[in-house]
Amino acid sequence: MFDDQTLVAALRRHWGFDTFRPMQERVVRSVLDGHDVAVVMPTGGGKSLCYQLPALILGRTAVVISPLIALMQDQAAQLAQMGVPAAFLNSTQSSEEQSDVMRRAREGSYRLLYLSPERLARADTVRWLESVPVAFFAIDEAHCISEWGHEFRPEYRQLSRLREEFPDQPIAAFTASATRRVRHDILDQLRLRDPHKFIASFHRPNLRYLVRKCDEPTQRSLMLAALREHEGGSVIVYAPTIARVADTVAFLESRGFAAVPYHGQMESGDRQRNQERWMSDEVRVLVGTIAFGLGINKPAVRAVIHLSLPKSIEQYYQEAGRAGRDGQPSDCALLWQGRDKGLLAYFIGTLEDPAERERAWQRYHEIKGFVDAASCRTRAICTHFGETPKWSSCDTCDVCGDGPTWFRAGDAAAVADVARSTRVRRLSRSTAGDDDPGPAHPVDEELREQLREWRRTVSKRDGIPAFMVFHDTTLEDLCRRRPANREELLHVTGIGERKAALFGDELLAALRAYKPTTG
Ligand code: ADP
Repeated sequence: MFDDQTLVAALRRHWGFDTFRPMQERVVRSVLDGHDVAVVMPTGGGKSLCYQLPALILGRTAVVISPLIALMQDQAAQLAQMGVPAAFLNSTQSSEEQSDVMRRAREGSYRLLYLSPERLARADTVRWLESVPVAFFAIDEAHCISEWGHEFRPEYRQLSRLREEFPDQPIAAFTASATRRVRHDILDQLRLRDPHKFIASFHRPNLRYLVRKCDEPTQRSLMLAALREHEGGSVIVYAPTIARVADTVAFLESRGFAAVPYHGQMESGDRQRNQERWMSDEVRVLVGTIAFGLGINKPAVRAVIHLSLPKSIEQYYQEAGRAGRDGQPSDCALLWQGRDKGLLAYFIGTLEDPAERERAWQRYHEIKGFVDAASCRTRAICTHFGETPKWSSCDTCDVCGDGPTWFRAGDAAAVADVARSTRVRRLSRSTAGDDDPGPAHPVDEELREQLREWRRTVSKRDGIPAFMVFHDTTLEDLCRRRPANREELLHVTGIGERKAALFGDELLAALRAYKPTTG
């Protein structure tokens, strides 16, 4: 019904991308054909496009169920930037705002409409949606529906009624994290009808998993070495407790690294501010508890460092997976200590529900097996999610490739020295992914810095996170291609018609004005 050109033209016009990522096109076609679909795709795989593009092409409204208000707002803002009409409905809006969204939705004004599961469960919401020209329902973070998942949310259970309430609407479920058991649960609970199933590989070749059991001093010096290795790049450090978050921030600052804390007991204004400072690249390092992350979609995170054992492989995969969404090489360092096991066991012991306790033990044994094994980390993760990789070595994790020099070094002094000497080498790592490297110029570091500075200014001026202005991959492509006019600008990855209209003149002027100070 929709030919290739229609799809690619929409991809080009609104997203500024030339090609689909593996699997995206097939998912888009299934959704356009009105099938139920179940999609498991790792973080950064490009799930949102799989429901946004069909909604745009169908010209009706896709209702997206999403667990977090912040995430909904982000997505709606990004879509608005791309010229796609989108809205969300939640309790933070005034009743006038809510009625306005509801009225405009009935008129069919939106291609995407974001709702929380609680909102969808309300009888008045169901009645209202019956008068909205709905194209299909998209369930984001669908694993939250399963008790077997690590992020079970009771309110997701109410989605089981969706099928009865809207028997004619297709349902599309998306998750980045689902073992076989959770996948079955998703199909069951959502009552999917003969769904087209898509399971992308969990292998993310740009992520290098580095696991090491440490004592305290080694852990600290390795953390510093990682930060030096990724100087100038964004980093997340996960600490197990609020006290450790504070200690770690103080320690990093004593060593000259600016870092902001993030945890559940901070005043919410402070938390929000810290998150924004990190999102806008004002401070590069964020130290958080696991409270930080869900809904964070910053593309260019160069490293995620864990300072203790996560509760499960799924949790680890998801947190570590916040690195490298842009497809560029990134490090996931799991620096754990012997005492972490005791701490986890203690917490499991405090769980009251025997079934929940049992599931927690199972997860504990799996993560313990993961860190103790002397076999490929990447493969272990893929196998955990039910994949049978055809390869046996990923060549990059600490087991397959020995890890980078900064990581191999053990004692504090050696680590610091080695980190300095290897910084030069880090750029030589190959880039994974299917991005067209683009022709012409090599990336001029000075120009890239200037473009980043320009982006920071725009981000402040327009009150939007820097990555919503342009991704790093777009800035790099700009440096390579040096477009001289609007036509050439539209060939840059991540620049569609709307972004070209919004920022094109400023950008072209900045590029024309650029004169390197050296060479
Ligand atoms: P997920 O929801 O699966 O974690 P996103 O939808 O946030 O992933 O997409 C991850 C990143 O990949 C985003 O920065 C997005 O702009 C980019 N992306 C998605 N599809 C494509 C594509 N076809 N070509 C280039 N970049 C893409």
